[in-house]
Amino acid sequence: MRIILSALMASATLFAAPASAETIILQAGRVITDANQPATGPATITVTDGKITAITPGYSDAPAGAKLINLRDKTVLPGLIDLHVHLQSNPGGDFRDEAVVSDEFATLMGARNALRTVKAGFTTVRDLGSTPLGGFALRDATAKGVIPGPRIIAAGPAISIIGGHGDVNGFRPEVGHALDAHNTCTGAVECAARVREFSKAGADVIKITATGGVLSQQGRGLGQHFTDPELKAIVDTAHSLGLRVAAHAHSARGVEAAAHAGVDSAEHATFADAAAAKAMKASGTAMVPTLMALAGVKERLGKGVYTPTVEAKGREAVAQMGKALKAARAEGVTIAFGTDAGVFEHGRNAGEFALMVEWGGMSPRDALASATTVAAKLLDKQDEIGRLAPGYSADIIAVDGDPLSDVRTLEKVGFVMSRGRVID
Ligand SMILES: [Zn+2]
Repeated sequence: MRIILSALMASATLFAAPASAETIILQAGRVITDANQPATGPATITVTDGKITAITPGYSDAPAGAKLINLRDKTVLPGLIDLHVHLQSNPGGDFRDEAVVSDEFATLMGARNALRTVKAGFTTVRDLGSTPLGGFALRDATAKGVIPGPRIIAAGPAISIIGGHGDVNGFRPEVGHALDAHNTCTGAVECAARVREFSKAGADVIKITATGGVLSQQGRGLGQHFTDPELKAIVDTAHSLGLRVAAHAHSARGVEAAAHAGVDSAEHATFADAAAAKAMKASGTAMVPTLMALAGVKERLGKGVYTPTVEAKGREAVAQMGKALKAARAEGVTIAFGTDAGVFEHGRNAGEFALMVEWGGMSPRDALASATTVAAKLLDKQDEIGRLAPGYSADIIAVDGDPLSDVRTLEKVGFVMSRGRVID
């Protein structure tokens, strides 16, 4: 027993201490505790052990031994949530890098990108596609404070059809075989098995590619890839394990099929029309628009960055900017914030807010809610993140100006506290 205990303690010292027992006092000029409520005037926020313990009106002094942070000239609000990132990926590059860059290097890149993300005010992200173990390693490393970064909800690799978006494409068969992440399936039984394998490996959420995708070397369009029975098997199996399903889906009928199968979110939903939106509404499927992905692709079209296969799909998708978001809003579909960071540079995530407002017609308040209360609910973490209240995680950011009248203020975050840790 003694040996086991000391071994445990030795391993514990390998990690940086979690948010220490110290108390931190934040004096905030204006506070948005909840994106759905009006902002309040000056307040003092007390943080202990990584959690908010009190929010009181006016400025209180720090008790002896507590650290005081002056944010009297700023608007303080909940840390932001991005439901769709790829921390290990960077924009541009050659698709053949996949055969050159090791999983280990990709994970170190992910650590750098995690820091850029949290510095931009995103204190929680959902990583929807990584190397088999790298996404989980990044998740565990930020949770333990080994590296600075956001809270990470990790999917591991996406589950794809053979030759679909998410499988290895564009290489000689034997090269593709060597790079295979064992993330494809055919038929309801095999797809259910794949979900259970990913659950066993540590996935927090199941990511599937329900349709073709823009940036892969598969030239099989953007239509539905998994069959209806396969989609149903994936969703039912994931739900039986307490896991939610995020479905990459572009074409209208692909979005509709994924919604019918009961996926929890349709990612991109680029070509969603009224019928697809009605199906989403009926199933309670949220839309994660990822308009920054379209912006990122648009910046690179015609510059020799993409192969002809990708270039054609990219032009088709970019022309849709904002249309599906408007169709979904017209049917009352829940809109949740996600960007597809990795398709563009990590750290620019907040650019999505202005696109939601300018192209999607959303109010700044709805856009902010999509990245706080709404996103927290989609993660089933609405009692932990997305608001500022006693008992909530101390995920707190501060900006100049008023994000409820100008969302671009969120593109310059001046202060970030993530799970009680101040990010420098
Ligand atoms: Zn993605």
